Amino acid sequence: MSFEFPDLPYDFSALEQSIDAQTMEIHYDRHHRAYHTNFMGAIKDTPLADQSLEQILAAAGTHAPAVRNNGGGFYNHIIYWNSMCNGGSAPSSDLASAIDAEFGSLDALQEKLTVAGMTRFGSGFAWLIKKDGKLVVTSTPNQDNPLMDCAEVQGAPLLGMDVWEHAYYLRYQNKRPDYIKAWWDVVDWAKVSERFTAS
Ligand code: MN
Repeated sequence: MSFEFPDLPYDFSALEQSIDAQTMEIHYDRHHRAYHTNFMGAIKDTPLADQSLEQILAAAGTHAPAVRNNGGGFYNHIIYWNSMCNGGSAPSSDLASAIDAEFGSLDALQEKLTVAGMTRFGSGFAWLIKKDGKLVVTSTPNQDNPLMDCAEVQGAPLLGMDVWEHAYYLRYQNKRPDYIKAWWDVVDWAKVSERFTAS
């Protein structure tokens, strides 16, 4: 993944049914951009500037907190934006088979991921990852992610659910369960399927 700050893959209002445009604009243009700016500042004129983002994250536990937190924040939001679309997306047949084999059904996976997001104390992300060829649900605190050496469970992120309050507070206030319930309506299973195939 490049160090370039990417465009949002849709309009701020594209996910309005679940996430309001103002939240999307602040989240992308202030929060995500700040992680990117601060990450670039933290690696500037250091040997890390010549590494890939994935390489840096894989050794996050050995880097300064500014690199771990902002590099994670930069990466995590790219996965988050690319985990959502304006509805109507389904898992590929390969991913659907893997989900059924591991969790029993798509509903059961969603329930497990919902619990992971609900029980992440404070701020963080819930994830569907591929670990040793198998699907696993996990969560990370703050801006950590499963690519990091310091993550409790490591693997390739397929789907990332942001449960920081900045992701939902304007419309949902303190009601994280309501945000997560609505979030499922805009999950882009086609993009998740692409990462499943590529990882
Ligand atoms: Mn966020």
